[in-house]
Amino acid sequence: MTASAIREILKITQEPSVISFAGGLPAPELFPMEAIKRAFDTVMEKYGPASMQYSTTEGHLPLREWIAGQQGVPADRVQIMTGSQQGLDLLGKVLISEGDVVLVESPTYLGALQSFQPYLPRYVEMPTDEHGIDIDALEALLKTTKAKLLYAVPNFQNPTGRSLSLERRERLVELTNQHGVIVIEDDPYGKLRFTGVELPSLYHIALRNAGGDHDKVNVIYSSSFSKTLVPGLRDAWVQASMPIIQKLIQAKQGADLHTPTLNQMIVAELVEDTLPKQIEIVKKAYGERAKYMLSQIGQHFPEGAHYTVPEGGMFLWITLPESVNTVTLLSEAVKRKVAYVPGSPFFALGGGENTLRLSYSSANPEQIERGMKALGETFAEALSK
Ligand code: PMP
Repeated sequence: MTASAIREILKITQEPSVISFAGGLPAPELFPMEAIKRAFDTVMEKYGPASMQYSTTEGHLPLREWIAGQQGVPADRVQIMTGSQQGLDLLGKVLISEGDVVLVESPTYLGALQSFQPYLPRYVEMPTDEHGIDIDALEALLKTTKAKLLYAVPNFQNPTGRSLSLERRERLVELTNQHGVIVIEDDPYGKLRFTGVELPSLYHIALRNAGGDHDKVNVIYSSSFSKTLVPGLRDAWVQASMPIIQKLIQAKQGADLHTPTLNQMIVAELVEDTLPKQIEIVKKAYGERAKYMLSQIGQHFPEGAHYTVPEGGMFLWITLPESVNTVTLLSEAVKRKVAYVPGSPFFALGGGENTLRLSYSSANPEQIERGMKALGETFAEALSK
């Protein structure tokens, strides 16, 4: 594990005077605090001390049954996780042996790289474009590389905000199945689509191809209540075939026995009524913030700064000309009281020094306006050098 220079710079961005688009936190002013308080009281009444007791490793059954119903999977294929981050860690633990090839998007979610790294995989990057993974390149890679795992975030990816097109989803599932590659589909943002049409998950495409047999599906699906409800309760799940679920139960027992009982019970009280309303609230807010950020980018960024146009989620991705280094440029941006995350840590094998990630989820219009203007000036200055 390496100390991060970027983390050091980002400490400065904690200053209240700096507008930070670096964090990537869900918007706290939207959290359904009253509903959570009521759910807490209900749980106390309904379960009493059982809410404070140890509980099963698999997770609170009403919550697993609700997820199973939503996802169209048997409840015994659903494992509750303490955040999807734990799901990634435990999947790494049960699936990756030293030297195993793990295919990752270029760029990919940094947290997944951090989770898998202790199990010593060999990363191979899959090139991406505005529709996600380049499937022709993947096909070529699979012919020459024996891969164990493929990790992907098909919806509104962190860090790029891009989504994998339907045609590519179909081909990805087919190709990985042919080559015996296990897919980890990480989908914390899927419900947060503010434009365009919903696409089927890789899991459901694979399930259809397997004739509905959940144990023949080579895709492991992971999702979370962090972005749709609140992240602090740390409630998420993994759905997978029985052999993988059984391994995960063992690994989870060793990690933390179970996800906090109380938190699972609270989430289970919220899923029917609060969650669907909350998803609408969050989608609307993020959609407006993304739209405003894109319009301000259009107005203030110099030619040569390319950006993604997300249809959901919390992020967009900027690519500057190769001559610009976004790590060194961050100090210049911070002088102008604005911060972002440099893109290079999101590349498993390095590179991407000319890229950066912006998060619009917790910014207000005034911050977006001032922030994009300051960033535009920072980029223009760097490009004029
Ligand atoms: N996967 C992705 C792609 C993410 O962006 C995040 C959160 N930043 C996570 C997993 C972890 O989320 P959580 O542990 O809160 O469910």
